[in-house]
Amino acid sequence: MEAAIIAAAVRTGNRKAIDVISGSLERAQAAQDLGIFTQLQAKSALAAARLLDQKIARGEQGGRLAGVPIAVKDNIAERGQAMTAGSNMLFGHVAARTATALKRLQAEGAIVIGRTNMDAFGMGSSGENSAYGPTKNPLNTAHVPGGSSSGSAAAVAADIVPLALGSDTGGSVRQPASFCGLVGLKPTYGRISRSGLLAFASSLDQIGPLTKTVRDAAIVTSIMAGYDKSDPTSLVDLMQPFTPKAKPNLEGCRIGMPRQCWDTNGNNAVNNTVRAAISKLEALGAIVVSLEIPSLTVAIPTYYLLTSAEAASNLSRFDGIRFGWRAEADDLLQSYVATRSKGFGPEVQRRILLGTFALAEGWSDALYRKADAMRITMRAEMDQALEAVDILAMPTAPTPAFKLGAKTANPIDMYRSDIYTTPPSLTGHPAISVPAGTVDGLPVGLQLVGKRGDEAAVLRFGMAVTGR
Ligand code: GLN
Repeated sequence: MEAAIIAAAVRTGNRKAIDVISGSLERAQAAQDLGIFTQLQAKSALAAARLLDQKIARGEQGGRLAGVPIAVKDNIAERGQAMTAGSNMLFGHVAARTATALKRLQAEGAIVIGRTNMDAFGMGSSGENSAYGPTKNPLNTAHVPGGSSSGSAAAVAADIVPLALGSDTGGSVRQPASFCGLVGLKPTYGRISRSGLLAFASSLDQIGPLTKTVRDAAIVTSIMAGYDKSDPTSLVDLMQPFTPKAKPNLEGCRIGMPRQCWDTNGNNAVNNTVRAAISKLEALGAIVVSLEIPSLTVAIPTYYLLTSAEAASNLSRFDGIRFGWRAEADDLLQSYVATRSKGFGPEVQRRILLGTFALAEGWSDALYRKADAMRITMRAEMDQALEAVDILAMPTAPTPAFKLGAKTANPIDMYRSDIYTTPPSLTGHPAISVPAGTVDGLPVGLQLVGKRGDEAAVLRFGMAVTGR
């Protein structure tokens, strides 16, 4: 199921949006025990489909995503719909406006059928940190789908929708894409407006699509991309046009394999499968070189310190007074304490404590500032590496999807899932995960990282690997 194909059929009147949307809602109902959705929106989705069909019958434009059913992560706002970010803290919260990125998709005819489950506030790598319970991997329900965009990945993998929106702060679109055999793109920082995306770590957060094909990822990203006055960090320059080609000529192109991502850390079977996918690019003429990006070895501590510091600050607004849920108590201070102690789950509390500590007077020079300096070094090293090559290539994650419960007792072990996805988030480079093959019957992804601003390259190389 591909978004572009559905849209073409609806646009030309060959298929009715109402049929497409009803089918998608039925599949969502049938898959209820996978824990994919926090909410289905049958009423608003069917109403939007009817309106679209009428518009097309009158001879008006249906849009580039006419009648395409989409699923939206529960931290991306849609006016009038609940938004809980997978946390008890926001039970009862209804969004007052629609995220810019989503508005742009809806303007092209996309129809939201539901909101997807996620690790609370985007903090997790397995989908297990949700107040709604875990999401299961549709390819093997004993395994996790990855996280934090667990429901969005599962919705596409279960063929409920051809396209879902996730958010990626350190891998939350790419790692679930890898675990579910999908395409997941994290654009250059600033490419897509963050307006209406609930903030986790604002200097890394990006919305990104989960799709079956690179073609779809390209269309959807180009629709969402572009300056937005309500997000001053959004980029003014335009995304380069991308012409889909299954077999581009890669003669003269150079692919860099950072040694830090290939030798010691990885699971050999994953490395071998991902390396085999890269050989498809060599067959099209590209040359593979090994290179060094020394700072990658400290990506995990750098990422967890900086993002926790930003999260501690961003999440201070959830006090039980202004948004969502409140624990009643005798006085204001007790109400704050009770609300935040019961509303936030253990992982979110761990990050708030870590972040607050990292920023505390007497510690911030040794922790926050040191990590921030490392981030600057990493960005310079990545930029430099990408002067010598067109693209960097590595596994998206060190393992295939692990079993539900396998890492919940050990947070550090969970954090290690993000070893390869956190660097482009820290440095702002665009990165895609495309299916590379399978290990023990489960998919593994190849991550391709491009120059800042160059989504076109990651899409071109990604499509050369997948052919679609
Ligand atoms: N797994 C990472 C974390 O827990 C990434 C999350 C994300 O990208 N939202 O922070």
